[in-house]
Amino acid sequence: MNLQKNIPLKEHTTFKIGGPAEYFVEATSAEELQEALLWAKENKQQYLVLGGGSNLLISDDGYKGLVIKLKLDKLEFIDTKVIVGPGVKLAYLLNTSLEHSLTGLEFAAGIPGTVGGAIRGNAGTFGLGMADVVKKIKYLDESNEIREMYGHQSGFAYRHSIFKENNWIIVQAELELEHGNTEKSRALIKERLDKRQEAQPNQPSAGCIFKNIRFEEVDDLEVLKNKHVEVDNFLQFKKIPAAYLIDRAGLKGYTIGDAQVSEIHANYIINKGQATAEQVIMLISFIKQQIRDKYGIQLQEEVQIVV
Ligand SMILES: Cc1cc2nc3c(=O)[nH]c(=O)nc-3n(C[C@H](O)[C@H](O)[C@H](O)COP(=O)(O)OP(=O)(O)OC[C@H]3O[C@@H](n4cnc5c(N)ncnc54)[C@H](O)[C@@H]3O)c2cc1C
Repeated sequence: MNLQKNIPLKEHTTFKIGGPAEYFVEATSAEELQEALLWAKENKQQYLVLGGGSNLLISDDGYKGLVIKLKLDKLEFIDTKVIVGPGVKLAYLLNTSLEHSLTGLEFAAGIPGTVGGAIRGNAGTFGLGMADVVKKIKYLDESNEIREMYGHQSGFAYRHSIFKENNWIIVQAELELEHGNTEKSRALIKERLDKRQEAQPNQPSAGCIFKNIRFEEVDDLEVLKNKHVEVDNFLQFKKIPAAYLIDRAGLKGYTIGDAQVSEIHANYIINKGQATAEQVIMLISFIKQQIRDKYGIQLQEEVQIVV
């Protein structure tokens, strides 16, 4: 095991924030991952699994314990079935699938990060997500044993899965795609990427900071309507975008240090250069308090804060 020390984690996150990992190792196979987990257990160290670092805010003090960067990058196509390692980047999976004339992953266009992180959080767009394509998953449970589960058993919900709930580590997935019209698919992807380009900032960030608010989480939609929240506009997905509320609360551009609520997309906090995790956390707290005061809604973080 090639154990390294004091590796700066800001290099491993899209936010470009985070102090050093006390211990750091790359795992290129399930066995190497098991070995790393065993090392952590024997040495009484906590551990953090890292995919693409695109959904993480890591403390300025870094991580005390072992950070395991997943590099399991198997990718195999068997007709419409895809066997994929968790370390494969979603963008690479999407492009390679199209080269194999397979469609079904259009929803993943523009989502940074890896397959493992995406399955864990059921990442997606436009109402579709990993849950729609994952058929089987191999994962490590708390006893460090490899187990297998079907997609429909995986408790997938909005930005949620059984793997997130139990901190199980995905080591391989089997996806089911289809022989579709790849030209149409490429056109759709281009259209979506162009839209994202316009609607999202290109400074370092961790994507959306807060989850959108599902209608069932709101005590009384009428109360929101009385506060001029245009609830009827969101009937299709039955969710109120967090960005909409943050924007309405006048918080676009609000800045603490080098952390700023994006002027382009209110649910993004951007790192203007030297932002610290502390500044981002203060900004998150401020936004939550404002939204609670104005709309009686408690925003939930989509980003994972590691302190
Ligand atoms: C610009 C930008 C745009 C984004 N747009 C979207 C979007 O449209 N839709 C969307 O859903 N998300 C979006 N995101 C958020 C992010 O890309 C997704 O959540 C992504 O799936 C995270 O994957 P990752 O590999 O980067 O995970 P990481 O950030 O590395 O890790 C996130 C969590 O997953 C865990 N994890 C990583 N690998 C595994 C594994 N193999 N098994 C178990 N747990 C694991 C980590 O321990 C951590 O708890 C965006 C982010 C950015 C920066």
